[in-house]
Amino acid sequence: MVSFSVRKIRKNIIKSNFVFFALFFAISCSDSSNPEQKIDKQKTYNWSLVTTWPKNYPGLGMAPERLAKLVKEMSDGRMNITVYGAGEIVPAMGVFDAVSSGSVQMGHSGAYYWKGKIPAAQFFAGVPFGLNAKEMNAWVNRGGGLEIWRELYEPFNIYPIPCGNTGTQMFGWFNKEINSLDDLKGLKMRIPGVGGEVFKRAGGNPVNIPGGELYTAMQTGTIDAVEWVGPYNDLAFGFQQVAKYYYYPGWHEPGSMLELLVNDDAWNSLPPDLQAIVETAAKAVNQDLLDEYTASNNKALKELIETHGVELRKLPEEVIMEFKKISDEIIAESLNDETIKKVHTSFQDFLDEVSDYHSIAEDAFVEARSSSD
Ligand code: CA
Repeated sequence: MVSFSVRKIRKNIIKSNFVFFALFFAISCSDSSNPEQKIDKQKTYNWSLVTTWPKNYPGLGMAPERLAKLVKEMSDGRMNITVYGAGEIVPAMGVFDAVSSGSVQMGHSGAYYWKGKIPAAQFFAGVPFGLNAKEMNAWVNRGGGLEIWRELYEPFNIYPIPCGNTGTQMFGWFNKEINSLDDLKGLKMRIPGVGGEVFKRAGGNPVNIPGGELYTAMQTGTIDAVEWVGPYNDLAFGFQQVAKYYYYPGWHEPGSMLELLVNDDAWNSLPPDLQAIVETAAKAVNQDLLDEYTASNNKALKELIETHGVELRKLPEEVIMEFKKISDEIIAESLNDETIKKVHTSFQDFLDEVSDYHSIAEDAFVEARSSSD
């Protein structure tokens, strides 16, 4: 519309100097005509970013550090983000509230930690037996997910941006073997989100404890089992010293997406070029973190097994099938909530379509590659 009216008025310029001045005035006053004119390049923005992760923790904790570095470089120093680890100025689980209230401008966390406030938020980190990392990116960025995510956080004055993915996780660490469903009975395990609810209905006792407290919780016997991320991150926490068996697959977290949370008022105070820089840096970090996990997990798993004597175990089929059945039940029950229903419909429609295609493309390829070994 703008280009149409500009073209139209350009014709009139030839006819009348009066129209020329009217056009000049209109363009000068217009918000959308040329945002460059309004940007004060001398103004600097000094923001704080709080995280759910220990300061400088490999992978998760370095993602916001890389974001801050990229934003500073891309903005030529106009935007400086100071990153705080969990507990430095805000507790690990206080990130959402701190950004919502505006006490800090930014946060880095995972959407499933906010299930108590927004039950539907879990879909934006990931749900059991759901989308893997590649599929999550496609759903959020190209399949309508991001628009719904932003609607969901809008009443909390938060603008979410995808910012990292762990890839498929491991089920976790145990000191006894899981040979049947009976072995889960009464087991106190750190496992958050819908995965935790599934674990509970299967007879276990789920708890959610921030990452930085997990080693001590295992060491002191406060918990019997723990899931965190995967070999790269779990090795860094030293779980191999407090547990013997390492179980897979991570049915509960097939591709957990991380989030950059931005306070809405702070976001709206940024000029368009800095907004574009933040969004672009977050996109780069989103991919970079997944690459880091993909490149590091194999090596870490090898070290866990060969150097530390960790025993790798696959969950019995019976247990996986029960987890799947319970997971389907929990999600079906939650659809009474209109918001969850809306998010789930978008998520599930995407999953159905993408898994149909992936079963003939990716899955068949991986099978073919393995069989030719
Ligand atoms: Ca996890």
